[in-house]
Amino acid sequence: MGIELLRFTCGSFQAPLTFFLGGEDQSLLTSPVPAYLIRHPDKGMAIFDTGLHHRFRREIDAQLGPEEVGFDFREGDELAARLRAAGIDPADIRWVINSHLHADHCGGNGAFPNATIVIQRKELDFARAHIDGMLYADDDFETGQSFLAVDGEYDLWGDGSLILFPTYGHTPGHQSARVRLADGDVVLTSDCCYLARNLDELVISPGNFDREMSLDVLRRLRSMRERGTRMLFGHDPDQWQGVSQGTVLR
Ligand SMILES: [Zn+2]
Repeated sequence: MGIELLRFTCGSFQAPLTFFLGGEDQSLLTSPVPAYLIRHPDKGMAIFDTGLHHRFRREIDAQLGPEEVGFDFREGDELAARLRAAGIDPADIRWVINSHLHADHCGGNGAFPNATIVIQRKELDFARAHIDGMLYADDDFETGQSFLAVDGEYDLWGDGSLILFPTYGHTPGHQSARVRLADGDVVLTSDCCYLARNLDELVISPGNFDREMSLDVLRRLRSMRERGTRMLFGHDPDQWQGVSQGTVLR
């Protein structure tokens, strides 16, 4: 049996299209907060991003209104609960890879006590110097596990099946992952590419840390896509239509 990639979402958030694409369109987009499990037949299980911390939880009766900007995150939406529902014990996760340390990507880290946190050193350093309790919060990522801080491309399992690669620009130390599946490579872009439209139109979010680096990353992703690599984007609702929790890609 080869590598498996399991897809989960941990709530969603609503924001105007300008947040994702720049431009003037203020219409709201409801976008998933994804997390992934990557299972190696010999090495064990890794998680790529862990969704939101429970401080963002909203109860059913206080759910996000149709015109409201923010998160919709309910009990049972957290990644650990998603995994348990799929028969996976969070204590068995050996690696947690964070694309970056924004709150919607590492808020569930604390639920994986036996994991090593794998992060670009640039991101960890930047986050620690920019704690604001919201976007970068130590409740999210200072959760007691040890860090494996890497510089640039990193082959996690040493066999090419899971390669982390720098996609700096959205944040100073953002990284993406390439997973080698039986049916071909899949890139988990995370937030260096929110939506397919970012890649199709070569447009970046106005909130990105560095515009030129971000555009350069999109060009690199484009050439990977042209060579047949599948892309799972950071927050693209179109890619989650009809996808149920724990859906397996091989
Ligand atoms: Zn995000």
